[in-house]
Amino acid sequence: MSDCIFCKIVNGDIPADKVYEDEDVLAFRDLGPQAPVHVLVIPKAHIATLNDLGTADAAVMGKLYLAAGKVATELGIAESGYRTVMNCNAQGGQTVFHIHLHLLGGRQMTWPPG
Ligand code: 5GP
Ligand code: ZN
Repeated sequence: MSDCIFCKIVNGDIPADKVYEDEDVLAFRDLGPQAPVHVLVIPKAHIATLNDLGTADAAVMGKLYLAAGKVATELGIAESGYRTVMNCNAQGGQTVFHIHLHLLGGRQMTWPPG
């Protein structure tokens, strides 16, 4: 998608502070961090929202969580704990329409989320 910010990050058209990359997945620090560690884990292929997933996307969705766990370990928050969140559409708080798993840690999380 030529007008998608996260596709531009995947393509290298926009810089990002990358913390993990493999064939299918990219993880980089959020520009507006909401916690001491705030990383976005995305599929390299464009998928707009959770509603757009098909059965062919099951493997890459699993890879997002595997990558999030690796990044949490590498950034030292695996034992203290962290939260993963994927927002969907307006009421879910989604603002970038290329799915992304938020990985948040380094502070106490509260429940329920806002
Ligand atoms: P959403 O609200 O869609 O769940 O999350 C979008 C996230 O993307 C926000 O936390 C926002 O700070 C982050 N973001 C938006 N534009 C950019 C960007 O160009 N670079 C990076 N690294 N993060 C971005
Ligand atoms: Zn995209």
